[in-house]
Amino acid sequence: MSYLVLARRYRPLTFKEVVGQTHVVKTLINALKQGKLSHALLFSGIKGTGKTTVARIVAKALNCENLIDGYEPCNECQHCKEINKGIYVDVIEIDAASNRGIDQIRELIDNLKFAPAKGKAKVYIIDEAHMLTKEASNALLKSLEEPPPHVYFILATTEPNRLLPTILSRCQRYDFRRLDLPLIIKHLKSICEKENYEIEDKALELIAKEAQGSLRDALSLLDQAMAYGTKSKEDVINAFGWHEAILIEEIARILLEKDLKGALEFSKKIYEQGIDLIYFMEKLTEFFRELIAIKAFSKESQVSFQDITLKELLFEYEFEEILLIFQSLLKDLEIIRKSNYPQLQFELSLVKICEYQKLVPLKDIIEKLEQISHINSSFIGGTHLEAPKSWQDFLNFLHKEAPVLHTIASSFPEPEIKSNEIYLNLTHIDNTKISLYLQEIKERIEDYFKKPVKIEIKEKKKITLDEVKERPEVKAILKSFSAKISYIQPIKE
Ligand SMILES: [Zn+2]
Repeated sequence: MSYLVLARRYRPLTFKEVVGQTHVVKTLINALKQGKLSHALLFSGIKGTGKTTVARIVAKALNCENLIDGYEPCNECQHCKEINKGIYVDVIEIDAASNRGIDQIRELIDNLKFAPAKGKAKVYIIDEAHMLTKEASNALLKSLEEPPPHVYFILATTEPNRLLPTILSRCQRYDFRRLDLPLIIKHLKSICEKENYEIEDKALELIAKEAQGSLRDALSLLDQAMAYGTKSKEDVINAFGWHEAILIEEIARILLEKDLKGALEFSKKIYEQGIDLIYFMEKLTEFFRELIAIKAFSKESQVSFQDITLKELLFEYEFEEILLIFQSLLKDLEIIRKSNYPQLQFELSLVKICEYQKLVPLKDIIEKLEQISHINSSFIGGTHLEAPKSWQDFLNFLHKEAPVLHTIASSFPEPEIKSNEIYLNLTHIDNTKISLYLQEIKERIEDYFKKPVKIEIKEKKKITLDEVKERPEVKAILKSFSAKISYIQPIKE
């Protein structure tokens, strides 16, 4: 007998054996017990999470002769056995992605009216349902609307958003989730025990991580690992060529965390391992380019992370911080290529990045400045000091008189108080609430200062680095912290 892959050898035959997906299984069991199962089911979720497997169990539950507890197939009767073998005439599996898919849908529709040949229910399992052509979808739609009482449809798809909305609305939807890492590890472990295959827990963990929530992927990796005869974590890393990916993630974390000691140890380690440093540096630079893309577009990344916590770690860092590391690596890559001492250059490159100060978003600095300027309002500049009543006086006054108006007015930039007029330059009016109260605030100012107020609303303008540098409070901060400005981040509204 030829070798049967693990995923097939250990395919769950009952609801109880299904790994994970407890929410789906529970709902299906309840519906079956009450005889209220919908005639059109949609199973959605990433590959290898059990959609087709559960569809077959449902098909058995609908046809089994000795149903246990009203929902669990016996796997002993003729019906169950034939469904397990895939030769049961009333359970029809259609692969919508194949060329035959369309013909099969037509055939299906023609045959709907006939009663099941053997069992109680005809079950159509349509895999990759999002691949159905528009024509086939429309034909299927009519059948989904009013399926004969003996007919059930189970549509399985990895991309439910590509199905026609009319199809979606006619199906009861079940979402199959990615499997948790510990669950996959536990399952792999139990299979290894059954197979009498000894392998380190750490090795299984690595395989489970790579599978990214797909049990089928995890099992096929385990198949390969067994074929290679791998036992330890190192075996697995070597057999699958994951060495480089793991090293890159390790150093990426060190650089993000600015761990100088870690960087030096790492540099030594990879030198001793005889890794081609130029090639490694290229890969590392590419990796940071990917991190930037992930950070900038918060997109589902194509990169598969060995270390899932690294992906989470990304959210703790500012975009500019990752960008700086990328820029630095890119620059040093060129230098390393030409250098006679690539190892020293590589080490220097890592150290340089670790020596960057952790960046503080400008927003935080401005917040601190505002606190300072409240303590000493003359710090900001002097124009209003000539006026007998200051803007701050007005705000204090408004605070007692009209707290809501005060909240809004204190978000305004300080107006220019001249001898005969007051200029209020607003850069933008960010919501209707402010514009509603603006007239009232204007009147209050005029009343308080006994001067007319002119309001000008300007388009929001981008601040340049030079302008920021010129501001006296920024100058003072830069001086007293002996800091430099690395980037400017506009305050988010
Ligand atoms: Zn049975």
